[in-house]
Amino acid sequence: MLTKRSGGWDGVVALDFGGEPEARRSPVPLGATRNVILLIGDGMGFGQVTLARNELVGPNRRLAMERASYVGWLSTHDVGRLYTDSASTATTLATGHKTFRTAVGVDADGLPRRSLAEAARDSGRSVGLVTDSYLWDATPGAFGAHVSSRTQYEEVARQLAASDFDLLVGGSTRDKGDYRDLFGAGGWRVFDQFEPWLEALPSSVPLVGIFEDLSQPVGPTLLEVARAAAERLDQDSQGFFLLVEAEEIDTGSHRADFGRVVAGVRSLDEVAAWAFDFAERTGDTTVVVTADHDTGSPIVLDGRAGGPQAVRWTSPYHTAQPVPLFAHGPGAERLAGIQDNREVATTLATLLGIDLEPADSGVPREGTE
Ligand SMILES: [Zn+2]
Repeated sequence: MLTKRSGGWDGVVALDFGGEPEARRSPVPLGATRNVILLIGDGMGFGQVTLARNELVGPNRRLAMERASYVGWLSTHDVGRLYTDSASTATTLATGHKTFRTAVGVDADGLPRRSLAEAARDSGRSVGLVTDSYLWDATPGAFGAHVSSRTQYEEVARQLAASDFDLLVGGSTRDKGDYRDLFGAGGWRVFDQFEPWLEALPSSVPLVGIFEDLSQPVGPTLLEVARAAAERLDQDSQGFFLLVEAEEIDTGSHRADFGRVVAGVRSLDEVAAWAFDFAERTGDTTVVVTADHDTGSPIVLDGRAGGPQAVRWTSPYHTAQPVPLFAHGPGAERLAGIQDNREVATTLATLLGIDLEPADSGVPREGTE
């Protein structure tokens, strides 16, 4: 239940969440999608997309992600609060369950919930997780680990090493110095440079890339890594699930750093342009570009042609504002409109013909709890 914080909100002391989030959709055709590419811009609300569009292509044109065939918005509140974090929201995007802040891959009761990535793996598909943050951070963690606190880095890394996924890429080694031993012992080939990682190895060999220079001026771009990852995963005739996270939008938004936000959105948008093209080329790939939550909620107040934008940042923290969703490829129409972030996981699972709640999971099924 919400409580008023000192220096916080005026007046509101309690909010009725009105029961479970509404689902609004008719049944989705089962198994129409072979591959899913899920792009998450950490902290990317409507304001970040707007200011980046104005800066990068001008208000008369559209970013690549804005050319998606269907567009929606997501509510991002967690199980008890409107204000939330990447761990909680990534878990919801991954599993379809609302949970609490700091939770990674567990529901509001602390029970592990199967993620899209794990269910895709169990269906015989290849799985890749790519982030320009550190690999054991909350967002990739939510797709392959189950812990109650995102700061359990050792345990998240250990569970990722035991995930039986095919490809993991992170952008730094923060808080986890001995990752080489950990993943090496699990049979992974570990790379710290992008170029050697590109060399053709049998697709059966699982790869970990920790690229300290990922998304840095001299390093590989998120696009280069995402494309190489997809080419490798696409060797699996049964299809693949690929997560790509751009973290810089969140960091830049916390600091009201206009340039860093624009660079982060551009980095993600380059991946979106390629992924939409991949979806059109293959015909059986569904692409979703969205965010875990809004950060800072920037408002574009004004600007003149050829001049800077006047931007007001609403907060240095995450906000409860909705976030945009852009969908392309088969079933994209099922992701359009106003929805809750739970529905991303359940809709994508249905499109892939996979079950997030198998009877043998040891976790009570929805509706029987
Ligand atoms: Zn943040």
